[in-house]
Amino acid sequence: MIITIASFKGGVGKTTTAVHLASHFAQKSSTVLIDGDPNRSATGWAKRGKLPFTVIDERVAAKQARNFEHIIIDTQARPEEEDLKSLVEGCDLLVIPSTPDALSLDAMIQTVQALKTLGADTYKILLTVIPPKPSTDGQQAREMLAQAGLPLFKTSIRRLAAFQKAALQGVPVYEVADARAKEGWKDYQAAGKEVSNASTK
Ligand code: ADP
Repeated sequence: MIITIASFKGGVGKTTTAVHLASHFAQKSSTVLIDGDPNRSATGWAKRGKLPFTVIDERVAAKQARNFEHIIIDTQARPEEEDLKSLVEGCDLLVIPSTPDALSLDAMIQTVQALKTLGADTYKILLTVIPPKPSTDGQQAREMLAQAGLPLFKTSIRRLAAFQKAALQGVPVYEVADARAKEGWKDYQAAGKEVSNASTK
């Protein structure tokens, strides 16, 4: 399975999503994360600690990726409309993380509508960094996306400090000593299951 992660803004949890979806798939079969983000955040994450999968540079990907069952690709942020078509065609599922703030959602919706026009159906939006109650941002974002008729993960990823600790320590969130780390891992595991279901349809 090839899963690509793309986002329309920096700082929306794109790399965090790539690392945790790769951690999820690595539990079952050989998995590689191809780091195609010029910031090389995933590569840095792996270097600071230890991840349960290999992270490789996109420049060596063609040669190395064939040895793995699951390929997760972290891409450069802010794709153009025409990049989006190639991204979606180059994978089994394009995952588009977005935070629930109205402004960034709006920009994302405009661009993703182009995919709808093309008839593409192998992409899904993942809401990330969802603030806790009493904030209703997550729910509002969900409604806004449903109204736009865009495909959305049932799971949202909560805003948890454990994710920042995981990035600093260079590990998946389940390795972090934090009371809420388990909840963060549960969110990405649920998202990972949805990925499997979506791509076997
Ligand atoms: P991007 O790849 O979109 O730039 P990152 O995955 O690097 O985003 O995340 C940006 C920042 O937000 C990082 O500091 C990261 O630790 C933090 N972050 C990501 N997801 C979450 C989350 N669910 N809860 C809290 N912080 C998060």
